[in-house]
Amino acid sequence: MEKIYLDHSATTPLDPQVLKKMQPYLTDIFGNASSLHSFGQEAIKGVDWAREQLANLFGCKFKEVIFTSGATESNNLVLRGLLMAFRNAKKESSSAKAPEDKKFHIITSKIEHPAILEVCQELVKEGLAEVTFVNVDSNGVVKINEIKEAIKDNTILVSIMYVNNEIGTIQPIRKIGEIVEKANLKRRPKSEVRSPKDLYDKIYFHTDAVQAVNYCPMKADYLKTDFITISGHKIYGPKGIGALYIKEGTPIKSIIFGGHQEYNIRPGTYNVAGIVGLGVAIELVNKEQTEINDKIGKLRDKLIAGLTKKIPDTQINGNLEKRVPGNANISFLGAEGESMLLMLDLEGIAVSTGSACASGSLEPSHVLRAMDIPAEDCHASLRFTLGKGTTAKEIDRVIEVLPAIVKRLREMSPLKRKN
Ligand SMILES: *Cc1c(COP(=O)(O)O)cnc(C)c1O
Repeated sequence: MEKIYLDHSATTPLDPQVLKKMQPYLTDIFGNASSLHSFGQEAIKGVDWAREQLANLFGCKFKEVIFTSGATESNNLVLRGLLMAFRNAKKESSSAKAPEDKKFHIITSKIEHPAILEVCQELVKEGLAEVTFVNVDSNGVVKINEIKEAIKDNTILVSIMYVNNEIGTIQPIRKIGEIVEKANLKRRPKSEVRSPKDLYDKIYFHTDAVQAVNYCPMKADYLKTDFITISGHKIYGPKGIGALYIKEGTPIKSIIFGGHQEYNIRPGTYNVAGIVGLGVAIELVNKEQTEINDKIGKLRDKLIAGLTKKIPDTQINGNLEKRVPGNANISFLGAEGESMLLMLDLEGIAVSTGSACASGSLEPSHVLRAMDIPAEDCHASLRFTLGKGTTAKEIDRVIEVLPAIVKRLREMSPLKRKN
């Protein structure tokens, strides 16, 4: 049976070109990239080359790119590292705005990845920060007015994801950047930073762009961001490697300690092969993006058209226009998501669901719930995420197989529908 993979938001296969360029760094070029001898120099050449590719992607300086172990670490570094820098500054001088008894304030959204949400919850639990989680509309787009209204004197960070991993909606990052910019101008009418103290009289803006890299503009200036998180394995690169764009002059403290790599911000021996792999993945994105956007979008539309035509009582979750081309999130009302997933898996088709019965919790997806989709319809949802290797034949097969599965489950369902 030929297997069909439609779960590219979870992870992507390694592009053979990435593997090819990584291979020597797993064998011959094994030096520690911090060593001064020729073994080290060979290795650091690979790291530098990769950093160049990322600087191209973000349109930034070489030294504004930090390599990490992945997006989870990048997100942790932004949230905790910025907060710690502010707390230290507060201790050392009176510049940072939070009064002694008041915590610094972070604004994020209800639909973020757990690598943001859970860090925020942890910072609250530790008594280090207060966090506002803004709402999204029924299309899954962040309500930017709520961001504007949430900004306070002690706000230090706005963190909003670029593209949601479950419903694929694209958030208005540049517009949010403009809101942050305006708020900063209000705080300090002469916008440029004049003294180190000014660094702590400012709101910073972060976006988790993991799911956007394949499809969206990524220049930091255009997006008006101070931090951008990306991950290797969501863009046909290796797992366990990610990066963080940090705008020059942005305060940040390391959250782990040891060596002096990455300007002391992220110590630890370089994962040279991983870094090179991420570099190739980015190089390929720069080359292939337009063409892939086009191809995947057509296949996604074909999938939606085929399924909604053959299966009654479906509901597309999230806005179709403001969404990346690779994502379709559909509820098949009255059919249980996890059962559909498992039955598709028996047919060799891999998708994911907004229902999480297997994990023991009956909690439906926090993203779909934030869009006010009733819990039972969240449990009936499937997420199809296409990739650059997806073919029309594969889409045809899903359209052929799924209707019978949905029909069978609906007949078995205790919540049997009228028709
Ligand atoms: C996958 C993902 C992450 C986590 O990335 P890792 O590199 O696996 O740590 C974070 N944010 C989003 C939006 C993701 O899709």
